[in-house]
Amino acid sequence: MTDPILRLNGVRKAFGGLVAVNDVSFDLHRGEILGLIGPNGSGKTTTMNLISGAFGMDRGTITLDGAVISGLPANRVARKGIARTFQLLRLIDDMTVTENAAVGMAFRPGQPWNAELVTRCQTYLEVVGLADKAGLEVSKLTYIDQKRLELARALAMEPKVLLLDEWLAGLNATELRSGIEIIRKVRDMGTTIIMVEHVMSAIHSLCDRCVVMNAGGKIAEGTPATVLTDPHVVEAYLGE
Ligand code: ADP
Repeated sequence: MTDPILRLNGVRKAFGGLVAVNDVSFDLHRGEILGLIGPNGSGKTTTMNLISGAFGMDRGTITLDGAVISGLPANRVARKGIARTFQLLRLIDDMTVTENAAVGMAFRPGQPWNAELVTRCQTYLEVVGLADKAGLEVSKLTYIDQKRLELARALAMEPKVLLLDEWLAGLNATELRSGIEIIRKVRDMGTTIIMVEHVMSAIHSLCDRCVVMNAGGKIAEGTPATVLTDPHVVEAYLGE
């Protein structure tokens, strides 16, 4: 097997006396979609924040392509190739769709556009199905379209690893089908993905593997079919 693209080794993070992530280790293989799942409060979002450098950690290491990234600030981690979407969308309302997508490429409002920037934005807007709304102001977009745009902005960074934080939450059945197709397309373009997700049908249809967390620790790892029938995992969800 090739070396993992991302490796978490003995990662720990406490908030005061509460250990939110407790000695968690797992590998992310190149090209896969890994589901990070578990009941509310189990430490999934904190783990994503540790990977993206939003939080510093107390112990352990995280490596990307063999190089240590833990300890780097979030902007340096992003430049090394890790992009993320947020549960609470972070778009700039009075800018257009294209301008928001360009923020992913370190575009600054007022900076002159060049053909390469425009083409790159257009490519990623097409991937997420927003190309026909490129000139609209963000405040005119529906919720699903804002989610698509958040993803386009992350993709415009051309990351090695994409972190999706409940990107499918709050979508209706039709939107969910389209969202699943988009994630699959992104993976097929060569992006490796970790997704925190509660939508079980999406986990089943998209994830190659899952890491299951409970009370800060990793309690299972394997294919969706295996982990979701694991008695420890079922019990953790029932205790929610
Ligand atoms: P999940 O994403 O699985 O729902 P979180 O990672 O958000 O879980 O939270 C794990 C635990 O850490 C929870 O008990 C939560 O209250 C706590 N926690 C998360 N972020 C903070 C924070 N910034 N300050 C204090 N406690 C936090």
